[in-house]
Amino acid sequence: MIRPGHVFHRKPSGLLPSAQSAEGVTILDNYGRRYLDASGGAVVVNLGHARPEIARAVMEQLSQGYYFHPTMFTTQVVEDLATSLAAHAPLGISRFYFMTTGSEAVETAIKLARQIQLARGEESRHRLISRWRSYHGLSLGALAATGRTSFRTPFAPMFKDSIHIPPPYCLRCSYGLEPESCGLRCAEALEEEILNLGPETVSAFLGETVSGATLAVYPPPKGYWPKIREICDRYGVLLILDEVMSGMGRTGKWFASEHYGISPDLVTLGKGLSGGALPLSAVGVQEEHYSLVVETGGFVHGGTFSHHPACAAAGLAAVKILENEDLVQRARDKGEILGAKLEHALSDHPHVGDIRGLGMMWGVELVKEKETLKPFDRSALVLEMVWEKLFSDGVILYKSLGLAGKDGEGLVVAPPFVINEPEMDMLVSALKGALNHVL
Ligand code: PLP
Repeated sequence: MIRPGHVFHRKPSGLLPSAQSAEGVTILDNYGRRYLDASGGAVVVNLGHARPEIARAVMEQLSQGYYFHPTMFTTQVVEDLATSLAAHAPLGISRFYFMTTGSEAVETAIKLARQIQLARGEESRHRLISRWRSYHGLSLGALAATGRTSFRTPFAPMFKDSIHIPPPYCLRCSYGLEPESCGLRCAEALEEEILNLGPETVSAFLGETVSGATLAVYPPPKGYWPKIREICDRYGVLLILDEVMSGMGRTGKWFASEHYGISPDLVTLGKGLSGGALPLSAVGVQEEHYSLVVETGGFVHGGTFSHHPACAAAGLAAVKILENEDLVQRARDKGEILGAKLEHALSDHPHVGDIRGLGMMWGVELVKEKETLKPFDRSALVLEMVWEKLFSDGVILYKSLGLAGKDGEGLVVAPPFVINEPEMDMLVSALKGALNHVL
């Protein structure tokens, strides 16, 4: 039995079980119950739990020295991690700034974009455009860019100048258009907004390469990112891709932007970067932007825990595991199998509105009426009930709350890449069982 302490839990939701240990895709709690972690927590544990290689690398670094101020020293492990990431990054992305959380990575990218514009002599460019139904983090800058209304509404009066365009969510197109004939209207919205604000005021556009936490995973149509890239280039706007969830192999490529054949100006990473072992995030930037900022006085930025060597050791060990075990390819191959299993078991279910995904990142959207895609009246509650049933049956998925209990809500299926087929079958059948039980 766990002895309750003074932890500030998010909601007074009763006593949570205490996690005792974990291995592979399994977590064990203090009552001896086993959970199949089919979302790696919040899509974090990409390589499986408690990898000894990562634990050893971190211990080794900790025993050599765990803190060196990032403006006074560099460390070999941080240099090596940046070099390894550069080898897998989209074209031209060659420099990496390390922090701890995804929110910080997003904030850092927004600030760095502004500094790149300043270094180019574009002083009036300060605005950021992002998208509705997006998630970029909990801190105020990242939250202002976030388009998840349920998260931003209490704080919205505190945000100035936060500008959002509709997301590429073809299932419920904001313009009521069909994907075959829409002409990518949602990408054109960026051009309209830039012209509306005045291109000379716009610093950057920020979007999740593949929507994750708020749209129950939604990969945009193939032409979306190339068109956005083209619009950004036309107006001197920098493109920031948020790959905190979709990066590090999650979609079956090292970076999800590879699926779309484009390279961003800046890219954020987090979550799976360390396999979840320690908090680690990063911003990657094009070499030419880096040089420009360095030549014009350097980045006005720095945190106590930037470039932390023990976190970097976890990141470097995680990259080595991805390379040595060919896990990105495995995420691609197994992801296809997982998608097919979800389709096979759930596509006919009367309350499954859509199943979509890429690699090991899948979403199952829940609806009241399949034909019309009408959402449940209290969809957040329905989602919670399905999730609770699954959890009590020992399967963990990630809840994706869309528009504050309206639509676009569902479950994210994103297991560690090491999951095997029997475990996939178990999770799919538990999900079907929970849907049948609750609905
Ligand atoms: N960006 C994306 C795309 C995310 O999915 C998240 C978290 O879910 C974040 C940023 C924020 O990351 P963190 O919770 O580590 O601050």
